[in-house]
Amino acid sequence: MTERLDNIVIVGGGTAGWMAASGLARNLRNGHTKIRVVESDAIGIVGVGEATIPPIRNFLGMLGIDENDFIRNTQGTFKLGIEFVDWTRPGHRYLHPFGRFGADVDGLPFHQFFLRSQAQGETPDIEAFSLTATAARQRKFASSAGQNVPQNHWTYAYHFDATLVAKYLRGYAEARGVERTEGKVVDVSLDEKSFIRSIELESGEVIEGDFFIDCTGFRSLLLGQALGVEYQDWTHYLPCNRAAAVPSENAGPPIPYTRSTARPAGWQWRIPLQHRTGNGYVYCSEHISDDEAAATLMANLDGEALDEPRLLQFTTGRRDVIWKNNCLAIGLSAGFLEPLESTAIHLIQVSVAWLLALLPDKNFNAIEIEEYNRVVTGIYEQTRDFLILHYKATERDDSDFWHRCQEMEIPESLHRRMELFRANGRCLIGADELFALTSWLAVLLGQGVTPRGYNELVSSLSDEELARMMSQMQQGMAQTARSMPHHEKYIADACAAARM
Ligand code: FAD
Repeated sequence: MTERLDNIVIVGGGTAGWMAASGLARNLRNGHTKIRVVESDAIGIVGVGEATIPPIRNFLGMLGIDENDFIRNTQGTFKLGIEFVDWTRPGHRYLHPFGRFGADVDGLPFHQFFLRSQAQGETPDIEAFSLTATAARQRKFASSAGQNVPQNHWTYAYHFDATLVAKYLRGYAEARGVERTEGKVVDVSLDEKSFIRSIELESGEVIEGDFFIDCTGFRSLLLGQALGVEYQDWTHYLPCNRAAAVPSENAGPPIPYTRSTARPAGWQWRIPLQHRTGNGYVYCSEHISDDEAAATLMANLDGEALDEPRLLQFTTGRRDVIWKNNCLAIGLSAGFLEPLESTAIHLIQVSVAWLLALLPDKNFNAIEIEEYNRVVTGIYEQTRDFLILHYKATERDDSDFWHRCQEMEIPESLHRRMELFRANGRCLIGADELFALTSWLAVLLGQGVTPRGYNELVSSLSDEELARMMSQMQQGMAQTARSMPHHEKYIADACAAARM
């Protein structure tokens, strides 16, 4: 029989802690289970994590949060994709847009027509067939609501100030009954079956619970330290292990996309917010010193730096299991994939969604815990493969770091996908994969993985019909984008934040 939980204790109040608390507060309304967040202001939060991917909108929708209110309160802007600069080779740039490329014809994927058209001669880059990419280049934006935007081509995400997001969600969760306790956890007590019984704070207060959610960031205080779950290190696939981060003044109106620029030992992010720009150099410490990385970052800012660069260290990978006994880790305590495709907050969202789907009772059924671990670790692995593609498929050989990336072994699953694409442009995506066809196409083509041929089925159109179709699609995208407001105008009208 179901024995409902009395007390859920979430340790940690960063983005992960407050997303978990909000999701539970919104959905677990049995009038019985108490939800408490314990966090330490003295320790603080990691404070980076400012770019997202489109499913974040579902999370806000699930919470019933108004998008404009959220953007206004988090100094947010809108994100239509990521521009990769100098990744394929110096001087080259491409966009990984959200949404989709072109329209399928008679059940055949658009990109096969694109490949045939390219083989015949004058066809622009594939981004000309993406509405979001076209709008991004024109620095335009419209929300799905209200504007005349074809829904199946249009999707977007957000950039926001991570500290303000935690604050916003805290307000949301507290308004729905979540209790917050300030204090530093100094001890964790286990019972004879290695279930967590309680945590002890520096003040001496002991907090008991029957389900503990570890959101303590890289420390992984409960799952990693108290329960001893080991960490799988994926540095051999994704060698970057540090970041220098610094905010700078905006040098112009915020653009509606993230920019990632390759550097000799990694890459630099640029995330435009309403009140400032977030910047960081993600690098591999075997190929550059911290001082040199910080100097490179500071020399490559658009606007005046607003602070000194902050150093962050990480190891890409994940815990062997993410849920053990009565302890589930969410966020950095569960694992970390470097921020190249802005996936960490999404992994939190997915973890919360699966927690709600498999919410335990006091029996902590092993099969449910196993299922959670199977599904969520699988998502970490899929995401890892997509990130590796960016490093592996590069023509850059101009530094030890890029040479190493070109030479590195990659997972068999990724190797197969790249070779299949190289042959005749086939890219088969499973229904449960996080990154859809558009994402894989954008990065495969953008990074110079060029198919030798195409699927012969697209020859059903004559050369003239194909040329006309391609031209009409491209013009349609350009026209629709032109009719949208400029990104900064949209923000000014709908969701301008208070000046800071
Ligand atoms: P934290 O923010 O570290 O929070 C940990 C919490 O635990 C804090 O409240 C702290 O006080 C508490 N705590 C810890 N120890 C104790 C203790 N002993 N007692 C009490 N409380 C304790 N993600 C994205 O989606 N997009 C990005 O663009 C992105 N960029 C990133 C760039 C870098 C360089 C890094 C390192 C990460 C990036 N991330 C990004 C990841 C993102 O920052 C995190 O996933 C997100 O902030 C969640 O962090 P967290 O809540 O797990 O941990």
